[in-house]
Amino acid sequence: MSPRYPLVLDVSGLRTVVVGGGPVAARRTRGLLDADATVLVIAPELCEDLAVLVSDPRVTWLARAYATGDLAGAWLAQTATGDLETDAQVAADAEAAGIWCVRADDASHSAAWTPATARVDDVTVAVSAGRDPRRARAIKDRIAVQLETGELPVRRRRRDHGGHVALVGGGPGDPGLITARGRRLLADADVVVVDRLAPRALLAELDADVEVIEAGKGPRAHTLTQSEINDLLVERALAGQRVVRLKGGDPFVFGRGAEEALVCAEAGVPCEVVPGVTSAVAVPGYAGIPVTHRGVARQFTVISAHHARDGAEPDWSSLAAIEGTLVFLMGVGQLAGLVDSLLEQGRPPATPVAIVERGTLPDQRTTTGTLETIVAIATAHEVRSPAVIIVGEVVTVAAELAKLRGRSLG
Ligand code: SAH
Repeated sequence: MSPRYPLVLDVSGLRTVVVGGGPVAARRTRGLLDADATVLVIAPELCEDLAVLVSDPRVTWLARAYATGDLAGAWLAQTATGDLETDAQVAADAEAAGIWCVRADDASHSAAWTPATARVDDVTVAVSAGRDPRRARAIKDRIAVQLETGELPVRRRRRDHGGHVALVGGGPGDPGLITARGRRLLADADVVVVDRLAPRALLAELDADVEVIEAGKGPRAHTLTQSEINDLLVERALAGQRVVRLKGGDPFVFGRGAEEALVCAEAGVPCEVVPGVTSAVAVPGYAGIPVTHRGVARQFTVISAHHARDGAEPDWSSLAAIEGTLVFLMGVGQLAGLVDSLLEQGRPPATPVAIVERGTLPDQRTTTGTLETIVAIATAHEVRSPAVIIVGEVVTVAAELAKLRGRSLG
């Protein structure tokens, strides 16, 4: 096989023809529409996906079998009829007319190939690997993932139209638990404004010229006040910088993310929110505690125990009445108070309680007890923030899991 000639085509507004009505034809049609081509689909019948696509105004469907002459005026043909003879006919007609034709049935007789492709922002990855499309796809996937995560750093060229803010949820602490999108934005940032509970390990991967600003919100220490943080985000974005506001967990779960988004919107600064894995669900999960479990808990409620901030106590009587699992964040300092309140409101003293400190980090630790015993046990174990407190029968599932795991190991 002589070396092939790779090419990137601008097919926008150009006529292309797809012969065939099945899933492969549908995929090819979608690809052409992504590139804004005009597509003539020729097939007596359409699969579901293609039936949806032909409602696009750029698509025309000829509901019949292919006939010589159908390629008139086309720049490119794709044939995927599943019928060797028809595909061969389309290919022969294309060749006679001087049109490139991609044959889905038989790559070795094809004049053109569609490479395995992925798009990450403005980068198109296209891989062709000998005659093995699977290998091409695998290579393409690996490159795309590395681009997505920022592992393959391709800093975008500075755009002229100013900066923006991304409110990125970093997950509970393990650097592997940030989303691919979050990681990519981080790799692209000029400035990172970071919380104490954000996944700090990710900062080590930043380029040396990226400025890192500690917002440093802890239970007691605030390096910057919230309004200083708000001002900083807006100021930097207006100065044209790409700002990442890296937060722990999810930005909208007790993270004051919405306040920051609103301030950006008011200032006319583009602001993107990238959700994160919230500690409210992930930290119990890492400790083997499911927040819901069939037959045990059908719902869970996430509560901030840090009521000093907004001045309002949780409504204990309605909380105690809620079925299912209670998950408290920011609760270590008020453990005794919250346990008393739940007991006063009639939660049984034998209700299981777990406290998971530094969840998903190497020194994660779980302390368990009941509403009756947990305060003494937590004091004895010197439980510290950050921790998630889980109240409910689901806590016992962790013990069950541990027992089974132990058995399968032993
Ligand atoms: N937006 C965050 C929550 C911010 S409030 C989220 O979605 O996870 C901060 C509280 O989250 C802490 O007081 C603690 O209760 C909890 N938390 C965050 N990270 C934690 C971790 N790694 N382990 C245990 N608790 C954590």
